[in-house]
Amino acid sequence: MSEQANPFESLQEQIDDAAAYVDVSEDVLNRLKHPERGLETNLSVEMDDDSVEVFKAFRSQFNGDRGPYKGGIRYHPGVSRDEVKALSGWMVYKTAIVDIPYGGGKGGIVIDPDDYSDGELERITRSFAEELRPFVGVDKDIPAPDVNTGQREMNWIKDTYETLENTTEPGIITGKAPDSGGSAGRVEATGRSTMLTAREAFDYLDKEIEGASVAVQGYGNAGWIAAKLLHELDANVVAVSDSSGAVYKDGGFNPVDVKNHKNETGSVVGYPSADEEFSNEDLLTLDVDLLVPAALENAIDGDLAQNVQADVIVEAANGPLTPDADDVLAESDTYVFPDILANAGGVTVSYFEWVQNRQRFYWTEERVNEELERIITDAFDKLVETYEDTDAPNMRTAAYVVAIQRVADAYAESGNWP
Ligand code: GLU
Repeated sequence: MSEQANPFESLQEQIDDAAAYVDVSEDVLNRLKHPERGLETNLSVEMDDDSVEVFKAFRSQFNGDRGPYKGGIRYHPGVSRDEVKALSGWMVYKTAIVDIPYGGGKGGIVIDPDDYSDGELERITRSFAEELRPFVGVDKDIPAPDVNTGQREMNWIKDTYETLENTTEPGIITGKAPDSGGSAGRVEATGRSTMLTAREAFDYLDKEIEGASVAVQGYGNAGWIAAKLLHELDANVVAVSDSSGAVYKDGGFNPVDVKNHKNETGSVVGYPSADEEFSNEDLLTLDVDLLVPAALENAIDGDLAQNVQADVIVEAANGPLTPDADDVLAESDTYVFPDILANAGGVTVSYFEWVQNRQRFYWTEERVNEELERIITDAFDKLVETYEDTDAPNMRTAAYVVAIQRVADAYAESGNWP
């Protein structure tokens, strides 16, 4: 494998690739390639054995021209300043392509949460929430879940904020549990947008999703829900994986059964009725109709892309393909439908959650799913229209053309502060 791409450089390259097709000046473009500000902090937290451990944590506020900064917080040993900067930038263009009134932000703690007790994780999370307090706010910056965080961490952050501010303000953070002001449908929303994007993509390409063979890399919240919803469309989920490896079954898996196995044993590997087990790399190069990378950045680089055989890739993860991989695949028959659309369901239902929190009026899951479907299919239509109207080499560049134009217009319309 070649050296890992720096995700922040990948983001900047993606913006440069789209620049040729957008009516925006060099100066504004430069602004759109750099974060507005970032927090880097060291959390000193007491462990269960009374020792004190220090954790590096970040929050990047990339761009707020279209609304408050918005984006998740991840807990992972691979978190770095450049990763958080890239992820915050991708949020800017994600909220722009689905046209919800937010900018982009992202945060993270360098930690493997599996190594810590629940009590330690709560203290670490509350310590980060204290550091974040001056930066976040219901109209300033609204965090959410990301890799290895969920309702529990969001509830802790909300509670810390509300306690310190002596108020109730559930819209300070999204992805909360329903009893703490979370929205119906939020947990499934990321995978739902992946399913909707795949459904629309197959329709656009005149392919049948029914019976299509599908491989899903990563079985976290995004990957497993995408697998489940694609299975409900009668697609044939033949391969799934997690960080321990991949399993394959010619006749297709029932994703719910595989999820139960993972919950019981810790991995999809070892699933009893699988025909074969192999590596993640083997899964990514399977000859399938649809490949869904749903793990981390840089899953497919330029070298691996040469062996990719899938007809369609729909990205559930953020940044799973490097720019080199895009270049290789643009020359092949593989269509890539980008992350900023295909996983935008999470932030879109976060937006619905924030709206509901502010109105203190809650929607049914049916309404959430209907509004989400409308937003994703409208954005999909705008994407393919732009792809066809420009000479953009691929769907990613077309997506950035739409998104960059919206952010640049918002900036231009605001004028300049002397
Ligand atoms: N972490 C998710 C993402 O990457 C969701 C962000 C949000 O809901 O604000 O899109």
